[in-house]
Formats: sequence, C-alpha cells, structure tokens
Amino acid sequence: MMKNMWIFGRSNKVVIVVFTGVLATELLWQLYKRTRSKIPSKSINEVLFFSEESSNCRMHAVSRTPCDRSNCSVTQLRKLCAYLESAQQNLDVCMYLFSCEDLAAAIAKVFCRGVVVRIIVDGGMAENSACERRIRDFRERGIRVRMKKSEYLMHHKFAIIDRKLILTGSTNWTMQAMHGNWDNVIVSNQLALVKPFIAEFDRMWILLTTGED
Ligand SMILES: [Zn+2]
Repeated sequence: MMKNMWIFGRSNKVVIVVFTGVLATELLWQLYKRTRSKIPSKSINEVLFFSEESSNCRMHAVSRTPCDRSNCSVTQLRKLCAYLESAQQNLDVCMYLFSCEDLAAAIAKVFCRGVVVRIIVDGGMAENSACERRIRDFRERGIRVRMKKSEYLMHHKFAIIDRKLILTGSTNWTMQAMHGNWDNVIVSNQLALVKPFIAEFDRMWILLTTGED
C-alpha cells in the first residue's frame, strides 16, 4: 500500500515537472516571438542607375568583372542578382521583357533551394526569341510563368522578395537595358511600398490563370 502510494506520488511529480517544463518553454517562445516582432528590420532604400556610361561596361560584362566606375553596370547587375539570391521563401517577378541570363540564373538558383517562384511576363514580348528562350528554360525547370496576349501591355518591371522587399523601376531585365539605356531600379523594404506591389502581383497572378504555368 505504502509502496503504491510512493509510486503514485512519484509519477505525479514527474507529470508536474514535465508539464511545468512544457509550459515554461511555450511562455519563453511566445515572449521571444513578441520581442522579435518589435525589433524593426533594417531599412533598405537604394536606387541603382544605368546610363549612357553603362555601355562602356559592356566590354567587361562577359567576364562579370566590375570596373572602377562608381555606377559600373556589372556591379549594379551583381547587386540585383544578390537581392534575388537573398530570397528564402518567395520570389515574385513581374517583367515586361526578360532575357538577362545572369538574373535568370539567380532565379533558377533560388528555385533549386526550394524558394517558391512565380513569374509574369508580357504575352507579346514573350514571343521575342531571347525572352521566349528564358521562359522555356524556366518552365522546363518547373518554374511557373504566366502571361496573356492582350491589347494592353503588361509593362511592369518589378520583383518582390520574400514579400518584404521590392525591386522596381524602368529597367527591363535585358542586357541592353543594363549596358546602354538610361534606366533605374529602386530597392525598398518600406511596407507602404511593398504591400501594394504584393496585392497587385497576387491579383494579376489569379487574373492570368490559364491552366498553363
Ligand atoms: Zn564597369
């Protein structure tokens, strides 16, 4: 009888200790999440320019080696690739004309890491041979690409990384745009800017559901 009571008392203590441990862990986790959410993430606001000088960088674009110019287009392109490669969960790209090999390679890289990638391009521009090649390559890899041929141009040029950071501006993702045009890319993680882009991309993605990705 005494022995049974001792065993019963001991098992009760074990249950209480385990329960307290689980409760403490849960409380600490909730506290950590609340504290973490209050820490402001680092603000990112950057503007990249491409100009007539960018054509001078065309010569060393093949080697991917930057030059000393402050706005070297190879350096700018590397930055864009680095932003794309920073994606951990989602990458949404909405691009009128997309033929740039380096940016396509950056997208393929994150897709291989398990990042969910969605791409929207203009239906008319998709018939451009360089753009068509990229789209075919994306689809062969399993990356979803949506478009629609329409009298209205899908003229956007933006990307959303992890639904937290946008790259947008006048620049098409072509070598011509980055090595000879006057163009710009704005990079920002300001919520007031990022949120509308997310909403617009999601709206367009549903609108362009055709059965073929
Ligand atoms: Zn250069």
